[in-house]
Order: sequence, then structure tokens, then C-alpha cells
Amino acid sequence: KKPLPSDIEIAQNAELAPIPEVAAMVGLDEKHLVPYGRNVAKVDLAAIDEMSGRPDAKYVVVTAITPTPLGEGKTTTAVGLAQGLAKIGRKPVLALRQPSLGPVFGVKGGAAGGGYSQIVPMETLNLHLTGDFHAITAAHNLLAAMVANHLHFGNELGLDEIQWRRVMDMNDRSLRHIIEGCGAKTDGVTRQTGFDITAASEVMVIMALATSLTDLRERLGRIVVGFTKDKKPVTAEQIGAAGAMAVLLKDALMPNLMQTLEHTPAFIHTGPFGNIATGNSSIIADRVGIKAGDILLTEAGFAADMGAERFFNVKCRAAGLTPNAAVIVATVRALKSHSGRYQVKAGKSLPEEMLQENPGDVEAGIENLRKHIQIIRDFGVQPVVAINAFPTDFPSEHDVIKRAAEDMGARVAVSTHVADGGEGAIELAKTVVEACDDEVDFTPTYEFSDSLETKIEKIATKVYGADGVELSPAAKKSLAMYTEQGYGDLPVLIAKTQMSLSHDASLKGAPTGWTLPVREVRLAAGAGYVYAICGNMMTMPGLSKTPAAMRIDIDENGNTVGLF
Ligand code: ADP
Ligand code: MG
Repeated sequence: KKPLPSDIEIAQNAELAPIPEVAAMVGLDEKHLVPYGRNVAKVDLAAIDEMSGRPDAKYVVVTAITPTPLGEGKTTTAVGLAQGLAKIGRKPVLALRQPSLGPVFGVKGGAAGGGYSQIVPMETLNLHLTGDFHAITAAHNLLAAMVANHLHFGNELGLDEIQWRRVMDMNDRSLRHIIEGCGAKTDGVTRQTGFDITAASEVMVIMALATSLTDLRERLGRIVVGFTKDKKPVTAEQIGAAGAMAVLLKDALMPNLMQTLEHTPAFIHTGPFGNIATGNSSIIADRVGIKAGDILLTEAGFAADMGAERFFNVKCRAAGLTPNAAVIVATVRALKSHSGRYQVKAGKSLPEEMLQENPGDVEAGIENLRKHIQIIRDFGVQPVVAINAFPTDFPSEHDVIKRAAEDMGARVAVSTHVADGGEGAIELAKTVVEACDDEVDFTPTYEFSDSLETKIEKIATKVYGADGVELSPAAKKSLAMYTEQGYGDLPVLIAKTQMSLSHDASLKGAPTGWTLPVREVRLAAGAGYVYAICGNMMTMPGLSKTPAAMRIDIDENGNTVGLF
């Protein structure tokens, strides 16, 4: 077989269908489309009410085993599977996150799928799309400006500890810590603060979790910007910013309709960080998608212990939707890395020895897959293992994965969607359709009424496989404070590395006999959760010495070059 053209070559040679035709494929009326250029349309939220009488589509989440830093292909598999479902006569709809600009210019790596399974136009998707992230940045920073202004004019609310920072959609390490209010007295109150990347903004998660415009407005009002000396929360509502923020975000709340290389409809909407946020695309897009088409596929960031755990425990419960099946993407390279015999580094190619035929290495890492199958089952949902085939794989290596899945009674299919498009995902598509008819007994990991501490413990022990949790004194104090303030019924997110089921990226496979150390706990009251931080969490990435931006350019015909 000849080698694949690059992602951007394939994408730029694609024939796109007019976006109203893409919408019509899933019964979305043209009157609900708000066109944005030739190839993207926003979908009016009125479509949700209008389609409310239609039956719900099957709802499928795409997750993965614990990845290498290169990613194991959840996006490519979600896109390929959607194309495969269309090939077998279904009406699939995709719901995916919008990529952040920072990583686009930072590390090379497509966020729009890959090969013959991509969302197009990929430049539009990877760059500004319809400006939603810019609107989120503006709304976030409006609140920051109003907080600073409140301090300048005498701090009537008595803000003592401020947790609201500023955001920007760019990797810029120099902004992690800044001093604001330098200069004269008229230039504002001097204090130390900093920037996070827009994907890490609480406003981003609020957009992802809001179920309606009204819900968005209420969540914005509940944002806690800081605390008074006697530890009373001060909200965006009290600052008087929430209404204006909602106005800035009104258009951004409409999901963006795009298409795959084979014209399958794809909603691209919101992009919350996978560590301190939910790592899942928006509920609003899913509310449209569940009524359009007959099978809705969405990707949950990172592996099943992270993105899928939040998908089930937080997103599904906020949305009132129950998934019918989950796809676990598994690769030979990730399982080989779980043998503990190799080091895979971000931005580097795989070590040469990992490309040799070696089913023994796959076998040595297989516990990781078994654990993820169990994680999905514990939610009462049946997993389908999707073997995402790479050109360097050997059938003997796929056989190891198949045997392990079948041993556990899980469905499994090999998919070659990157090389072959939807045609390569037909077997997987048929398997997923079958799985969607299984009985679902949706079982979240914890009750909202459990204490915050119990929720952390249940996620750590039941999902991650830890023996227990060790809370730092600071974490204990915050948990007690949030409970006292009335936030005890919120769900909990755990911010940890995605490179291991544990908090320690070097622990491969399915580690046992460890304790989860919680350093710090923070509140995201608008988004509606408390998050526990294990280890160092980066909320403003930096660029590498030779960022991808150095290779990106525009040619004499106005075409983008060097973008993946
Ligand atoms: P995830 O969504 O899980 O992070 P992606 O789908 O973005 O993963 O894939 C990660 C990277 O691996 C991308 O650069 C993608 O093009 C590449 N990739 C994924 N699947 C394959 C495959 N089957 N063959 C070759 N490259 C692949
Ligand atoms: Mg992805």
C-alpha cells in the first residue's frame, strides 16, 4: 500500500457538500441554520424545541485506554465510525470539541481527526471557527475587569482572596504570573494574578454544561470570583457582570455544524480542558444531535478514567441523557507502552523497537485495556473495543487485543478508518449498532448527596483502582469550607495526569497498591463542581523551542500550508 498523503493534503482536496445539504441529511431544517461563510453554520437553539417530539437517537461515547502522549485516535475513530455508520445506512451525527489555538501553534498534531477520517475544512476547525473561543475569552475577561474595577472603587463586597484570573487562547508561559495595577494610583489596585488558556476558563465549562440560555445565565451568576476575609463567597452576580457575560455568549451557545470528509454532519462546540474541566463537548450540541439523526457519537477527552468518568457522572446527569454504548479505542502502540518497556515522548516519533512485531509486549500491557473495560461496565454500559489500526501493526498483535476483549465478553472490532475512511469502519459500525440494543443500567459512581470527601474516594477507588485517598491539610480545610458554604452536593472532578490510571504518569498498565494524594481542592460553582488537584496542573501551557507556528504559512494563492 502506498503511504497516505498528509492530513492537510487530504483535507484540502476534499469536496465539501453545501452545509444545508449536510443539515438536511439529519432532518435539520434550513430555517434553523445561521450560515457562517460557505462551510459552517450555527444552529439556532429554537431547533431543540421544534424537534422535541422526535425520538431520541442512540447515544454513544468514544473513549480510550490510557494513551501515550501521541494520542490513540479517539477523534479519528469517532469520525471514522460516523462515516462507517453512514455507509451501512444509518443517520449518524457527531459532537466533538473545538480545538484550542494554543496547541495548534504549539505541538504538531491534528485535532480534526486524521487521514481519511477528518472534519473539514480543517483550517477553519483548527483556527477561529466561528469565534466562540474569542467570545468566551471576552466574557471571562469582562468579569476580571469588573473585579479589578470593584477593587479600584473601594471593594465594597470585601473581596479578600480572588480566584478569578484572566484567559487567552494562546500558549504563553510568560503570562502565568503577572502583576496588575502597576503605575499610578489611578491605574488600579496592584496585585499578583495571571492568565490561563481559554480552554481552562470556567466560562468554557459553563458553556459546555449549560442546557439552555437560561441555564447559562444562571450558571454565570453563580461563578465565585473570590472570598471575603470571613470566607464568604463573592459571585459574578454580586459583581454585576453575569448578565453582560451572557449577552457576549449568546451566539457562541449555538453549536457549529461542519462535516466529515464523507459529508457526515458534525457539531463542533466548546473545548473544555481535560484536566481541571470536563473534557467533553457541549450538552447543547448533544441536545440538538440527539433529535437529529439516529445515532449520536461524542468523544470524551483522555481515557475512560478521566473524560468518560466525567461524561457519565457529570455531563450525562446534567443533560439528563443516558448513553447506550461506549467505544473504547485501543492501539497496539499504547498497549506496548503499558508493558513498561518503552518511553514514548510527546512531539517525538515512536522508538524504533516498538514498531517490530511483538505480540508479547501487547500482552504485557493488556491489563490497562481490561481495567478500562471494567470501568465502563461499572457504569452499567456495555463497551465496544475499537482496535484503531496503524500501518505498522501486525495481525498477531491485534489478535492479543481481540482475545483479551472476548475473554471479558466485550465486543471488539478492528478499524482502518484512517487509511480507508468510512469503508474501513464498517465492521466497527455494525458492532456498535449491535451494542446499542443492549440493556443499559446506568449507574453513576456516587450520589450527589455523598459528602465531597466520599465522592473523591469513590472515584479514586472504584474508577482508578486506588486503595484510598490522602487529603492534604489544605484540601481538608477547603472541603470543609465548601461544604459549610452549601456546595457539598456538587459533583467532584479529579485533576490528575491522563498518562496513567493513577496520579503518577510513570505507573503503566493498571497500577494497584497506591493511594491518591490530593494536594488542593478548588471550587467551580458556576460550572457546578468541586475539583481536587493531584500533582501539578498546568492551566497555561508554554510553546516549545520550535513551535508548530514556525512552519505555518500562507502561499501565493492564499492557501494555508504547514498546518499538520
Ligand atoms: P485522540 O482524540 O485520542 O487524542 P486523535 O484521533 O487526535 O487522538 O489521534 C492522535 C494522533 O494520532 C493524530 O495525529 C492522528 O492523526 C494520529 N492517528 C490516529 N489514528 C491513527 C491511525 N490509525 N493511523 C495513523 N495515525 C493515526
Ligand atoms: Mg481527540
